[in-house]
Amino acid sequence: MNRRRKLMLGNWKMHHLRSDLVKFGTEFRQSLCSPLASVLEQVDVGIAPSFLCLETLTAQFPEHGWWNVAQNAHYAATGAFTGEISIPMLHEIGITKILVGHSERRQYFAESDQVVGKKVQACFERGMHPIICVGETLEIRKMELAEKTIESQIRAALQHCPPGSSFTIAYEPVWAIGTGIAATARQAQDMHQFIRRVLADLFGESVAIALRILYGGSTKPENISELLSQPDIDGALIGGASLDGGSLARMINSAVSV
Ligand code: PEP
Repeated sequence: MNRRRKLMLGNWKMHHLRSDLVKFGTEFRQSLCSPLASVLEQVDVGIAPSFLCLETLTAQFPEHGWWNVAQNAHYAATGAFTGEISIPMLHEIGITKILVGHSERRQYFAESDQVVGKKVQACFERGMHPIICVGETLEIRKMELAEKTIESQIRAALQHCPPGSSFTIAYEPVWAIGTGIAATARQAQDMHQFIRRVLADLFGESVAIALRILYGGSTKPENISELLSQPDIDGALIGGASLDGGSLARMINSAVSV
């Protein structure tokens, strides 16, 4: 029996306007099994919305323990990087957690393992908690190179990790993101167990046992319980199914009851 609390995070990607948030919040709160403050005593919960929704969401969910997460940030603190957002800018509005290396950033914005490593390093230097996303493509899995790929993504991301750093890993197989085809509980558990072994090799057994590893990829109310009941799955990063308040709440209810 591990002591890791479940962490349920929505990733809204480039969805939802600020004007959608009141309806979302109402449906979300109505569908939770108990008031949000009580839920947050049992599981960690949050959302990564667009940058423009971050402050609105902070106001909408003031409950202690709610995670308001940025979807990305530049590794430089300041500079001539038109269109980018820096970690100090996020800090200024109270954000302390960032998704780093999401597969869509890697795929559409050419974020290499090296860039991901620099972003993670910048997070550690500036007191941010990165949620580090890793995942293999279908081609890589078919070639039986999934573990090798995940291991090198993790090692590159954490190459400048000072002892005691706070971070979360999200395993998101690229073939499962937005496809409707989630990894089976067995596939996900096997990879999570492997990731924990890599983390143990890097930081020692006692650190690895305390780190949270989330699963992401086509999770929904119907499949979340089985995934969350696996011993090394400590929560979920939820894309499409987090856009509807009722659906996200039902998934969180499952996390409370597993
Ligand atoms: C994601 O983008 O992080 C994700 C897991 O998406 P989906 O749940 O829609 O597959």
